[in-house]
Amino acid sequence: MAATAAAVLALSFVAVPAGAVEFSPTPPYVHDTERVERIAAALREDPLFVDIDSAGGLSAAETARIRAALDDQPVPVYAVVVRSSPEDESGGDGDLFLHALHHVMDEDGVYLRIEVPWSRSAEYQGFYTDLAVLGVSLSSYDIKSAADGPPYDVAGIVAVLEEVRTAPEAPVRDELPRAVQRQEEREDEASANPTNPLATGDFWGGLLVIGPLVGALLYGAALLLAFLVRLGLRTAGISLRPPDPRDLDLPAVLRARRRAPRRPSRRTLTALLHTELRALAKAVETASPDTDRERIRTAYDFANLTATTPGASPENLVGAIVVARNGRALTDPDCPPRLPGACMVNPLHGSAPPDSGKHPIPRLGRLAPICAHCLARQGHLASRVLMLDKKPHFATDTVWVTTRYGETVPDLARYALKELDV
Ligand SMILES: [Zn+2]
Repeated sequence: MAATAAAVLALSFVAVPAGAVEFSPTPPYVHDTERVERIAAALREDPLFVDIDSAGGLSAAETARIRAALDDQPVPVYAVVVRSSPEDESGGDGDLFLHALHHVMDEDGVYLRIEVPWSRSAEYQGFYTDLAVLGVSLSSYDIKSAADGPPYDVAGIVAVLEEVRTAPEAPVRDELPRAVQRQEEREDEASANPTNPLATGDFWGGLLVIGPLVGALLYGAALLLAFLVRLGLRTAGISLRPPDPRDLDLPAVLRARRRAPRRPSRRTLTALLHTELRALAKAVETASPDTDRERIRTAYDFANLTATTPGASPENLVGAIVVARNGRALTDPDCPPRLPGACMVNPLHGSAPPDSGKHPIPRLGRLAPICAHCLARQGHLASRVLMLDKKPHFATDTVWVTTRYGETVPDLARYALKELDV
């Protein structure tokens, strides 16, 4: 809801490269929240915070102009005038700082960080800024195009705040700090690379048996083959991300998605459910007569009832998305009648591949099936857990959690219809 959303805008003096920042992949991201908590407490009283060591950097008139630009915003907007350094809690990464502040504030909105220079001269007046649009339905693209620009004077900052005021509505995006995104992309790259045979015991065992020359030839051939395969796939425009070959045994609609919302609002989930319903209706039209029409209809009915129930819980919306996808899988005549459960890290990822076993899930406290992408990222799953109303999706013992989204029952849609009495 826009009414509960807040915007925080921050300006920074020096854009410090974030490569060396030490951070946690999960909120609050920074290792020390003392300063962030102090700033959050002040922001709850006043949407403009000027830190003591920046106070001389802005005149009273300039402060008043920024304050006026914060008024009458469609969403809460917070501006923080604060310095950053490589030694601070975010290692000078303004984006990470704003995400930490958002977490501590526990309020969605637009957060702006403003960094004033130590000495403002006639030639150098500029402020650096970081902007984060967090959990609010504004198009961050238009705003960010301005905020990521060159250093601003106060008129520039006021213009950025004006862009916040007039930004078009857009679906709420699930934003991670850029440093965390970059880290995840690096990990994805690493897991997509074929295994280096030198790193496995089999290679050295092979060397002892077959002899060093043959071993070296095999290693060279393996490297060449891996190179050619990757080159060929890249040339063909195919992404080299087979997270787990067992994923291919699932009907396409149930396979692991690389990206799925992690902290979706009810509105995002409702929109996703409607998309799934439309896709299911379309698949039914073209489905062969051999499919289990009765079962597909039950899946559609449940998903449709949930989509049209005012105030449906986020848990039921997620469950209905899984049910709708199951229904679509069943329109494929080759689909096995017994469908797997959805990924317990985030059911929106997709289903667990057949025979992939159960695995530890952060904060769940027991083993459960997970999707192919999560299988490939074990040990890094904490930041991938689906959060609903700021809690893990498995925090309450819903019908979805007890059945592990269908793993323990033969027909999830029928079971949910009966249990939830919708
Ligand atoms: Zn998963």
